[in-house]
Amino acid sequence: MDPITSLLGSLPPDFYITDPDVVAKYLTDFRHFRTGASRAVLRPRTTAEVQRIVAACAAHGVPLVPQGGNTSYCAAATPSPLGGELVLSLERLNAVRAIDPTNLSLTAEAGCVLSVLQEAADAAGLMLPLDLGSRQSCQLGGALSTNAGGISVLKYGMARDLVLGLEAVLPDGQLLNVLQPLRKNNTGYDVKQVLLGAEGTLGIVTAASLKLARKPAQTVTAFLAVAEIDALTTLLARAQLLTGENVTSFEYISHHSLGLLLAAQAGLRHPLEAPARHYVVMEAQTCSPLLGLEEAMAAFLEEALGEGLVNDGTIAAGGQQRDQLWYLREHIPEAEVANGGSVKHDVSVPTSALPSFISQASALVETHGAGGRLSIYGHVGDGNVHFNVVAPAGADPAGYKPWFEREVSPRVYDLAVTMGGSFGAEYGIGIVKLDLLERYGDPAKLHMMRALKAALDPANLMNPGKVVRA
Ligand SMILES: Cc1cc2nc3c(=O)[nH]c(=O)nc-3n(C[C@H](O)[C@H](O)[C@H](O)COP(=O)(O)OP(=O)(O)OC[C@H]3O[C@@H](n4cnc5c(N)ncnc54)[C@H](O)[C@@H]3O)c2cc1C
Repeated sequence: MDPITSLLGSLPPDFYITDPDVVAKYLTDFRHFRTGASRAVLRPRTTAEVQRIVAACAAHGVPLVPQGGNTSYCAAATPSPLGGELVLSLERLNAVRAIDPTNLSLTAEAGCVLSVLQEAADAAGLMLPLDLGSRQSCQLGGALSTNAGGISVLKYGMARDLVLGLEAVLPDGQLLNVLQPLRKNNTGYDVKQVLLGAEGTLGIVTAASLKLARKPAQTVTAFLAVAEIDALTTLLARAQLLTGENVTSFEYISHHSLGLLLAAQAGLRHPLEAPARHYVVMEAQTCSPLLGLEEAMAAFLEEALGEGLVNDGTIAAGGQQRDQLWYLREHIPEAEVANGGSVKHDVSVPTSALPSFISQASALVETHGAGGRLSIYGHVGDGNVHFNVVAPAGADPAGYKPWFEREVSPRVYDLAVTMGGSFGAEYGIGIVKLDLLERYGDPAKLHMMRALKAALDPANLMNPGKVVRA
């Protein structure tokens, strides 16, 4: 009997589904890079069931591909097309186990959808600061396994910065239980960090304890037209100073991206009277009802206008206007999709170098990109820009995108790395960026990654072929 048949025979039938029409929903990645094959989807409901499945896979030598919300931009949760792997969906492992308002912590299972956790924290009078555009679909386990970033990193850090404790099933079926929601716990290696950002290659995250924050009592959101790209970093520093380091988001939108969006969605309105080349959506928040955040933001805007750093700007008058401004930032990817999708470069550089990177990389595309349309937006405060390129109007994206990735993308990545940056800021490696990791990765780092993989998963059964090549 083949290993998958014997494995499935050793598990209760309600642990998995085999209906090909249902299984098919788990086999294509979000960006349609790849469609894999899997004879079944394993769907545990408890950590004990995950342990039983992983132990059975180890005994039968069957590789697993953990899957959360399947929103990875790097095809990290898609099985190989050869059919020898099984998808392990965490979607039924979805209980919120505890909220401790005094400890400011939440403990939840891996399959919880991020927005559900945000709502749970909100109901307890607190806030979960992890927030990204895929919040309605991505799951806690996936967000932690990709060390997701998002729109609040500036104030609260990446996903790993919010993790107090972790529960996971290791490749041999052992349970790692370091789930205590402790802020101090210096007792040897911080092993949970090895699993965070590992994209399922070192074990299955089953639960985590996360930091919560106090809910903002004041939120001020502004939309600015920035005079010159070089002004971005000065503006951010001023905003931090005047708001007392309370800027939670400082998001860049180029006129290219805003133009694509306004053209793609007819009902949308430009939020300012005159168009500009560079825009920023910025938000400041404080849990204090006493600090004068609105006054601080108004003073910041007045000063920036007076000095010519900003040409125009508006401060949202209420929640509805705030939502409208954020809509512009968050729906740019949809505008790219409406134009045939984009070649994405999710790069980071030191924040001080970001304006220069944007200018130099734009010039590279203008010179070598055969008319490709830029779409540049991202997290200025994190030094992370989504430097994307859409096929020229009228060109076939299916032909243009691979050409661009082969001929021009290496120049963009080389530039980022030469400027002290990274070719992969927040989306991870998956399969899509394996070559880039091998090209740019520090040799000693790659050696340590292979050693960790071999030590914890010697049979290469955890998401094989992702992050570390066999
Ligand atoms: C509209 C949109 C906006 C996005 N915005 C951002 C953003 O701002 N910042 C950002 O960082 N990313 C962003 N992403 C990328 C993606 O949403 C995030 O990486 C997200 O965290 C992935 O979560 P997921 O549950 O969908 O994981 P999946 O895609 O299902 O899996 C991602 C990886 O984690 C592994 N995995 C999943 N669950 C587990 C588990 N329980 N244990 C071990 N391994 C597991 C998978 O095998 C895979 O390697 C965005 C994606 C979309 C579609």
